[in-house]
Amino acid sequence: MGQVHILHADMDAFFSAVEQRENPDLQAKPVIVGGVNLSNRGVVSTASYEARKYGVHSAMPIAKAKKLCPNGIYLPARHKLYQAASAKIFSILKKYTPLVEKLSIDEAFLDVKGCEKLYGSAVEIAHKIKEEVKLKTNLTISIGVSVNKFLAKLASDYDKPNGLTVIKKEDIKKFMRNLNIDNIWGVGEVFAEKLAEADIYKASDLWSYSLEELKSNYGKAGVKLFFLARGKDKREVKKQNQIKSISHEETFIDNLKNQDKIFAYLFKMSEKVSFRLHSNSLKGITVFIKVRYADFSTYSRQKSLKVALNSSQQIYQIAKKLLLKNNLLTKSIRLLGIGVSNLCQEGQEQLNLFAQTDDQLDKTIDQLKRKYGFDKISRARKLYLDQDD
Ligand SMILES: [Mg+2]
Repeated sequence: MGQVHILHADMDAFFSAVEQRENPDLQAKPVIVGGVNLSNRGVVSTASYEARKYGVHSAMPIAKAKKLCPNGIYLPARHKLYQAASAKIFSILKKYTPLVEKLSIDEAFLDVKGCEKLYGSAVEIAHKIKEEVKLKTNLTISIGVSVNKFLAKLASDYDKPNGLTVIKKEDIKKFMRNLNIDNIWGVGEVFAEKLAEADIYKASDLWSYSLEELKSNYGKAGVKLFFLARGKDKREVKKQNQIKSISHEETFIDNLKNQDKIFAYLFKMSEKVSFRLHSNSLKGITVFIKVRYADFSTYSRQKSLKVALNSSQQIYQIAKKLLLKNNLLTKSIRLLGIGVSNLCQEGQEQLNLFAQTDDQLDKTIDQLKRKYGFDKISRARKLYLDQDD
């Protein structure tokens, strides 16, 4: 019968909602939480719904957000706090089914097939989760319920915040008909432009094409599109979405040769990797780098350490050494990548004095940023970039 059994649960404007909960003065105000690195070069992590009215959204540069929303309240991220709320939310989700696939700190898929006898239908379970999350965390969550992951995710997004949307099998066609093409997984800006050339703007515009046509026009992506445009998705909810590594890479518009500039980028990228490790309460023992030159030749190098780390300073220092020691800075660089792998949960790693000292430094900088505002506190390395732009 194809009964709905997949849930996609997603907290509403999570980081800013936690900040608004912690400080009642912030309620109903445009609150913008930024990354660990909160200079004007940093990006927005979460914007409250009040801030979104000004056009502010996540991943937008802080500098741009401040132009759009000069009266916004800009706060540095407090990951310990969000992590604590997240742990509570996930313990609620796991009560209803063992099949919880964590997508991020505030988002998960659940498969509740077989749990109905204990907790009621999938829709009843969604109601119960919403109530319990509100009661125990004083935060709201949006849930989509459907027959597969793709539709459940579309459904959770449909009526945010505090939504509960169900897409039953018989509603799929109606729901997909007017869906814009860029809402389909895997369709980014570039692909959407390509599809627009063939007058394909909505999911239903794809219905007249055969699988073979889409495959020959767009390759593998075309095959995916054929099924997703009809609301079909066979991926199963996997119990633990184990993150293997966290990395960041950048392709430069002009190839880079200047060492100081390369190190400045490397530092910025280390901060991004560190931020994402912190957000997921992870540490790793292997730092790796990737370099691609103008002729597209590509080199990777890595170093494993005795102690797991997630501080931007340490990641940066090790990556810098890898570049220098392996003589990778002799030609101009087209792409630079940096990452950390061999991950473990924070708290499960071996502690040593060195790691603790460095964590403390990150914390102190965070505190200073909170106290004096993001713009004023920036490690010396970043000043190079700030002046350059
Ligand atoms: Mg969310």
